[in-house]
Amino acid sequence: MSVVVSNVSKWYGSQKALDEVSFQIGKGEVLAFLGPNGAGKSTMMKIITTFIAPTSGSVKVCDFDIIGASLEVRKRVGYLPEHNPLYVDMYVREYLQFIAGLHRIKNSEGRVKEMIALTGLEPEQHKKIGALSRGYRQRVGLAQAIIHDPEVLILDEPTSGLDPNQLIEIRALIRQLGKEKTVMLSTHIMQEVEAICDKVIIIKQGKIVANEKASGLRSQQSAALVRVEFREPVQSVLLQQINGVLNVADQGANRWVLTSREGEDIRQAIFQFAVEHQLTVLTISREERDMEQVFRELTQNKD
Ligand code: ADP
Ligand code: MG
Repeated sequence: MSVVVSNVSKWYGSQKALDEVSFQIGKGEVLAFLGPNGAGKSTMMKIITTFIAPTSGSVKVCDFDIIGASLEVRKRVGYLPEHNPLYVDMYVREYLQFIAGLHRIKNSEGRVKEMIALTGLEPEQHKKIGALSRGYRQRVGLAQAIIHDPEVLILDEPTSGLDPNQLIEIRALIRQLGKEKTVMLSTHIMQEVEAICDKVIIIKQGKIVANEKASGLRSQQSAALVRVEFREPVQSVLLQQINGVLNVADQGANRWVLTSREGEDIRQAIFQFAVEHQLTVLTISREERDMEQVFRELTQNKD
């Protein structure tokens, strides 16, 4: 595993940003961290990259603890922060040279040249960063994130603010990087997942509401949702085991949204499950939705 997040919570004063978040990213996987604004995506990424500490829980990157071995973690992580703060008065090449120096990279000139070629910065390499378009600035951001050849890349909303052409180019670049590296990218755009990722985690109000393979999402043009309310609490891992259930979302107060393939009806299986586990089903209803709607369903506020 490249990244192992275990029961991470983060409070900013009295504001809870992450609530017992756990997930893992396998070596070489490309994970989308999908969620609306304020869901906790940037907070999670700042924790993984050692910029802020969690209030509780633990994170390991390539088997190194983010608190106990933060320097080892930083060597193995490349980070493109949300607003990609760059030194606008520096020249592209000068800036990358500066970053290479921070990482104490040997033969840094050669490495900078390599990064400029890899990220397609050649035509703009002699310009000041302040003079670059947003798309080229993102390339500089990606170049600084990979210059020390990290195993893990953490990209916070790498495509936000790009025009459609830049979007396609940056996605292609991320896909290319994803062939060699473990990548976690955050986005609030569902289509991004289709375009780039192997796996998707949907986060809402600091809690994971879905965690599945993107191929699962892709293969389902649409899905059936079953809303069920039990009288008693039940563990999501048990619900996950019900035959035909693809995804489980906790709606609070013993209410759940279970997703199954389009055309399949899992209600009978749910009743059977309830009987086996001595649970009472208070309400149950079923509807068909496409994945875009499922995402909205999982992330919108109920109350
Ligand atoms: P996202 O990246 O998904 O939009 P963030 O991780 O930036 O979400 O924020 C999660 C929650 O934590 C939000 O409610 C946000 O207002 C709050 N938050 C983020 N940073 C701070 C901070 N430095 N101080 C206080 N609250 C913060
Ligand atoms: Mg953010």
